[in-house]
Amino acid sequence: MTGLRNGFAGPEPLSDDDPPTVLPPGRRTRQDLANGTGMAELHESIAGLLASQGQWRQAYHHLRSALNLMSTTDTPRVPEQLRHEVNRLRREHAEAREQSLRDTLTASYNRRYLDERLADLLAEHAGTNDGLAVALVDLDWFKQVNDTYGHLLGDRVLQRVVDLLQEALPTGAFCARYGGEEFVLVLPNIEPADAVAVCETARSRVERFPWAQMAPGLRVTISAGVAHEHTTASSAPVSAEQQLISADALLYAAKQSGRNAVAHRTGSDVRLAGIAAGRRGTIPRTVAGY
Ligand code: GH3
Ligand code: MG
Ligand code: MG
Repeated sequence: MTGLRNGFAGPEPLSDDDPPTVLPPGRRTRQDLANGTGMAELHESIAGLLASQGQWRQAYHHLRSALNLMSTTDTPRVPEQLRHEVNRLRREHAEAREQSLRDTLTASYNRRYLDERLADLLAEHAGTNDGLAVALVDLDWFKQVNDTYGHLLGDRVLQRVVDLLQEALPTGAFCARYGGEEFVLVLPNIEPADAVAVCETARSRVERFPWAQMAPGLRVTISAGVAHEHTTASSAPVSAEQQLISADALLYAAKQSGRNAVAHRTGSDVRLAGIAAGRRGTIPRTVAGY
């Protein structure tokens, strides 16, 4: 008999025992479907194995293949299950990727994210006339905090400082742990004065935080160097490394000035932001990195 179902004509039967089943939309025999289902199950099993080993991307591809196979067969229950699985794996993959870009102690972004994102941002900004600021932030006398109060409290201080640094960051800006007690704030699409103001506000927020509630006598401050780049169509692109070197040189100037300060550059001069601007003493007029 020629199989007709829902108006679709199918191929000849494989055998008398195996009458043709013709299904929309793929015009497939039961054997084809069995093969497809078998392949889909194989893909699904491989996906499960890969997922258990944390190989999310490969697992995801196998699940997609399974889903494609099953979506052309006559088993409506399975595609729903698979879709659910694909969504679950996609979610877990996104979570695993997000975790791989975060610092485990402070939950700020990590160095890997900083390297990737900053390079991308600089490439995007090249020649666009938009400014991009990079601030290198370092806790002042942090070794003493550890020595006096212990590393566990030191860890809690780092976590709190990150919270304070991240408070009220402009849209698109982010904080990443550069290493140890050093952090980087990346501020895209920003004017130099605004970048300095954001960092000075963060410095002041850290200074004013009631640290003594965490441990009697505890006091925490930060210093920062803010490097701002403004590339035009005619200027040479700046590398992430160059900008970090500039920020580091300015951080050094902030430390030299007595710490608890934000250093930046105006023209060829190194300046301190806010109340520290009135300090007498030694700010190197030119710093390495320029
Ligand atoms: P400066 O003002 O010149 O930056 O002085 P400092 O004491 O902050 O700098 P130094 O480089 O001498 O010491 C940094 C300290 O930061 C030493 C190190 O043990 C501590 N540190 C780095 N990472 C961590 C961490 O994850 N947890 C804790 N508790 N301490 C850390
Ligand atoms: Mg340091
Ligand atoms: Mg330090």
